[in-house]
Amino acid sequence: MSSYHDQLQFQALHDLTNRSKGGIIMYSCVWLMITLIYDIHTSHTDFFVLNLAAFIILVTLRLAHLYCMRNAYQYKSATLMQWFVGNLLLCAVHWGLMTAWVIHDPTLSEINLLFLIITPAFALGGASTLSISSEIKVLYPTLMFFPMILALLADGGLQEYLLATLCGITLIYIFVSTNASHKDYWEAITNYMVAEERAEQMEKLSVTDPLTKLHNRMYFDSEYTKEWKRSLRLKAPLSVIMMDIDFFKNINDTYGHIFGDDCLKVIARTIGAEAKRPTDRIARYGGEEFVMLLPNTNAEGAKTIANRIRKAVENIVIDFEGETVKMTISIGGATAVPTLNEDRSLLLRRSDSALYHAKESGRNQYQAETTGLC
Ligand code: GH3
Ligand code: MG
Ligand code: MG
Repeated sequence: MSSYHDQLQFQALHDLTNRSKGGIIMYSCVWLMITLIYDIHTSHTDFFVLNLAAFIILVTLRLAHLYCMRNAYQYKSATLMQWFVGNLLLCAVHWGLMTAWVIHDPTLSEINLLFLIITPAFALGGASTLSISSEIKVLYPTLMFFPMILALLADGGLQEYLLATLCGITLIYIFVSTNASHKDYWEAITNYMVAEERAEQMEKLSVTDPLTKLHNRMYFDSEYTKEWKRSLRLKAPLSVIMMDIDFFKNINDTYGHIFGDDCLKVIARTIGAEAKRPTDRIARYGGEEFVMLLPNTNAEGAKTIANRIRKAVENIVIDFEGETVKMTISIGGATAVPTLNEDRSLLLRRSDSALYHAKESGRNQYQAETTGLC
């Protein structure tokens, strides 16, 4: 998802769609019930056929929208939202016009009272349920009430004027109450998203080394455990390489800790560039130590990567006030196809001891512990 605003829109679209599902059935069923009970389908065929056609079109559009929402990620959420709002407003126009027809047509007077009760109830219910959308909360009740008010005014009796006035007051009441629920919804959803984003950031920070921006040891340890189990299941080789900068204390002592920190950042970037597979994981293991987890990689593969890193570090040239500073790195590696009776820390212990051998054997080299391993 591209932006925070898009995420909010997407969530609102989902909530609107879910909240309006019941309405699709309810409106058409109520209408069908009234027309069938009062025999409108035979006494007023034109009223029945026209409204039935309108219901079929509107319900089909709503169902098609529901179907598209199942794969909403394929469409622009703005398009789906416009479709939804447009569809809902058409429903309101249709119901409003139907109510006006019933009020205005004296031959439909037996269902007149029913519509005078149901229409405001639908307008209030629909507007408050769907008050998430600022367009719907205003236009939906207006489009339902307006034709009804006009029809009442056109009929011209005192009672009709009174009813039209009451409809106007109800409409104002709906505006006020939906305004409050609209605000509450957006405040709640914004707070929820902000809290989620913060939690995500905190999680990221807790596994990131602040100096080098590589993952930290905590992350590595948990990834190592997961990868050990996966390799055990797949009977696949797993390699670990441990790296330690040579004589790094001298760099700090000679050029200062700030420069030492800069060197660590450059080396971290250099090692990071050598992790070619998305499954390879690198972490800062300690002060000037780094570690790399190489799933599905045999001893030969680990050696190739380790020597590539070693040469890349050797080629780093850092300038300190006109003086050229060079560094080297020692690397120890271990590879195994995990088995059930092997202790999980095996590769960490073995690569650490291989690193010790690399240091002992003169530094700037790769040593691997392969005894009993692959
Ligand atoms: P060796 O070749 O045996 O690894 O020698 P070394 O000097 O690299 O090893 P030693 O363990 O004696 O010293 C490691 C040094 O790394 C000591 C410490 O000052 C430095 N160091 C560890 N963490 C940091 C850091 O975050 N920033 C800086 N600038 N230096 C660090
Ligand atoms: Mg060290
Ligand atoms: Mg060192």
